[in-house]
Amino acid sequence: MKPNKQGFNSRLIHGGGHKDPLGSVITPIYQTSTFSFESAEEGAKCFAGESDGYIYTRLGNPTINDLERTVADLENGFGGIATSSGMSAVNLVYQTFLGAGKHIVSHNAVYGSSRGVIESVYAQFGVEASYIDTTDIENVKKAIRSNTALIYLETPANPTIGISDVPTICKLAHSHNIPVCVDNTFCSPYIQKPLDLGADIVLHSMTKFINGHADIVGGIVIAGTEDLYKKMRTVMINVGSNMDPHQAYLTRRGLKTLGIRVERAQQNAIKVAEFLESHPKVGWVMYPGLKSHPQYELAKTMMSGPGAMMSFGLKGGLEAGRKLMNNVHFCVLAVSLGGIETLIEHPASMTHSKVPAEAKKEGGITDDLVRLSIGIEDAEDIIADLRQALEKV
Ligand SMILES: *Cc1c(COP(=O)(O)O)cnc(C)c1O
Repeated sequence: MKPNKQGFNSRLIHGGGHKDPLGSVITPIYQTSTFSFESAEEGAKCFAGESDGYIYTRLGNPTINDLERTVADLENGFGGIATSSGMSAVNLVYQTFLGAGKHIVSHNAVYGSSRGVIESVYAQFGVEASYIDTTDIENVKKAIRSNTALIYLETPANPTIGISDVPTICKLAHSHNIPVCVDNTFCSPYIQKPLDLGADIVLHSMTKFINGHADIVGGIVIAGTEDLYKKMRTVMINVGSNMDPHQAYLTRRGLKTLGIRVERAQQNAIKVAEFLESHPKVGWVMYPGLKSHPQYELAKTMMSGPGAMMSFGLKGGLEAGRKLMNNVHFCVLAVSLGGIETLIEHPASMTHSKVPAEAKKEGGITDDLVRLSIGIEDAEDIIADLRQALEKV
């Protein structure tokens, strides 16, 4: 797909290019498992790939394809493959590139299940893995082996907000003929376009910013080239990790406002980050928009803005985190991110309370760390809630 000439927000609205036979302005929900053929000959053509007629929803469906074309266009990719969840998008990439005797290099603070599935499932099939801090290119150089088949990045990473240098890592990877995949969930294509930075594949948990309304679970993989796209679509079809048409319809609807949602959330996030950084009970704030972020300059070269995700540390550690969680009333105490509502989470007392100390340390999850996904409410209300809860800490 050639880079589209229209602006980002126009592409959000019109990007999929679905022309409805009845003139429906919105791409309808084609809630069907199968599609009828005009004749035996027509069916034969569809199966031979000589016609783009639809056959069966796992292989393709107009509602799903409209979403796929839109997101692929926003990422400047060749094509997209929508999946049932973000994790099925991650697995689609793993299933395409990994196998017995193959090796993956990835960030030690990637999304928990993206690492967990390698160590608990793919290890059974003989896949080897190196989890390292990819924010330091020297670590990546040392980790590459002759059998490395995939470099898998997440930037900014979850929940440390560490930033990896995508262009430099891609150059290094390509000099060894290794493909690079970037999980772009934290940014959305509004803020960062990894394919433009040199990556081969980009993926999203569409559960987060792309849908943006905390009412579906979904994923997508976008390939930079036709060859990679075809390879991965074949895997998806055979594995059966397709998205469902109704889920695709809701996601396509949520996606239309991505630009204004992310812009608004980001404006709020800048105010919240500045408030937190100046608060006496806060030890540190990690947010790409603050000069105190260790990769502040690098972030500016890869991201069009600092985004809506941040983490911060409470001087009072674990107990202070628990107190803060039990005293917020406006910010919603929940995992996930990228929705219209502000979500707050304290991994040490919530999601990671049973994770061994060593594993937490390696992933950069300290006892004092609190993660915020800033929503599109009024910044004053988010700040007022954090201020009153911090007073009780
Ligand atoms: C949520 C998330 C995933 C997994 O997505 P699901 O839709 O929950 O399956 C993967 N990567 C990142 C960065 C995420 O935030």
